[in-house]
Amino acid sequence: KWDEILDYLKNEYKVTDVSYDSWLKPLELFQIEDNKLYIIYNGDQNSMTLGYVTRKFTTPLRITIAELTGIQYDDILVISQDNANQIKKEKNIEHIKIEETPSFEEKRMGNSTINPKFTFDNFVVGRNNRFAQTAALAVAESPGEFYNPLYIYGGPGLGKTHLMQAIGNYIENQNPNTHILYVTSEEFTNEVIENLRTNNNATAMQRFRDKYRTVDVLMVDDIQFIIGKESTQEEFFHTFNALHAMGKQIVISSDKPPKDMETLDDRFKSRFDMGLMADIGYPDYETRMAILNKKIEEKNFNLDESIRKYIAENIQSNIREIEGALNKLIAFSRLEKIDITMDIAERELQNFISPNVSREITPQLIIEVVAEHFNITVDQMASKNRSSSVVRPRQIAMYLCNTMTDSSLQAIGLLLGGRDHSTIIHGANKIEDEIDKDENTRNLVETIKKKINPN
Ligand code: ADP
Ligand code: MG
Repeated sequence: KWDEILDYLKNEYKVTDVSYDSWLKPLELFQIEDNKLYIIYNGDQNSMTLGYVTRKFTTPLRITIAELTGIQYDDILVISQDNANQIKKEKNIEHIKIEETPSFEEKRMGNSTINPKFTFDNFVVGRNNRFAQTAALAVAESPGEFYNPLYIYGGPGLGKTHLMQAIGNYIENQNPNTHILYVTSEEFTNEVIENLRTNNNATAMQRFRDKYRTVDVLMVDDIQFIIGKESTQEEFFHTFNALHAMGKQIVISSDKPPKDMETLDDRFKSRFDMGLMADIGYPDYETRMAILNKKIEEKNFNLDESIRKYIAENIQSNIREIEGALNKLIAFSRLEKIDITMDIAERELQNFISPNVSREITPQLIIEVVAEHFNITVDQMASKNRSSSVVRPRQIAMYLCNTMTDSSLQAIGLLLGGRDHSTIIHGANKIEDEIDKDENTRNLVETIKKKINPN
């Protein structure tokens, strides 16, 4: 655990190997007292080492420990082995272990496999997930009745598990007697393997069947991982059929649709076709922002609008990462007891928002960023609206699309509500003129350009 903390810190703060060997590797946990963490430095002890390690690494350590374990220490003290021996003699203490925060599994109430944290109420609906959300809600309201199985698929961190758990919570609330079983496909696989290991011991097999075939709702998360494992797939097939025949609801999630799962048995493909497929796509900017705002509200945190935008603009394909970025800022802010500024956000989120990965600059992206900068919608940008609060952003978008991409004037015009190429040229020229003459416009356009292409 301690090694993991050091490893994580090393990656996160880009500590070089040599620095790691000199300063971090020699660190050893000693004790905790009044929310103070004592660490022994076993490296070369001279007039500077302890002071240096303290100055350079205690803050990163506090943040890393908070991130990985959820425990926030007021203070981290780096002491020498001698100091430690002294304290030990005085107090007769042994070395300590840093505990992990209890995982979801451990926090679950009783024997429910549903985590009350993920509900429909805190699931933000956007264009990318509306269908899946509707399908999930329908299943939650009428389990086993209409859509069976429900098959939810989409990339990592886009809300599949959240939706499954929301179904579970909804049903538990409506009807506490419903027997719901949620398993990851890993848990399922492990149980099948355990079963085989006991060599088809009749009672073990019976126990397995009792567990899986007496439920009202079975949810198997990330089914892609059991595909290709013969015996597990076989067992799941029988479980599936038994439940389905009894009209019990089955919910499955995967990273891809059945037709793209090459090693999926054809028998499954036809079974899954009987039900409903729902995909979750990538969230657009508004949805990312809405989700971020929701999480900020849940965590009771204060974060400047500009920093929210910075996160929502830059982390685009994974909600889990948006949350990770937020958690990192929250940990930093609570430990340092300061508000997050843009400088801090940029520094702390380097790993989430890698400056090396540039996104492709397209007219769509430009129009999205410009609209967002002026707080208007993409639809307004493309509309016939002639008010100056829309005309000017539209012209700036024309200028930027024309100068930053290779797209034809026609293509740009199409995206901007079907305007013809002379309109685009006119708008672009107008902004170009202004940039020559007016410093404010120049700065404005520079700022927007940076938002489009931060490199
Ligand atoms: P997946 O199972 O698809 O990998 P998760 O369901 O675990 O993704 O979602 C990752 C994180 O993002 C979770 O903390 C979840 O609450 C959050 N999340 C994803 N989509 C939404 C949404 N639409 N509204 C609120 N939170 C969301
Ligand atoms: Mg998941």
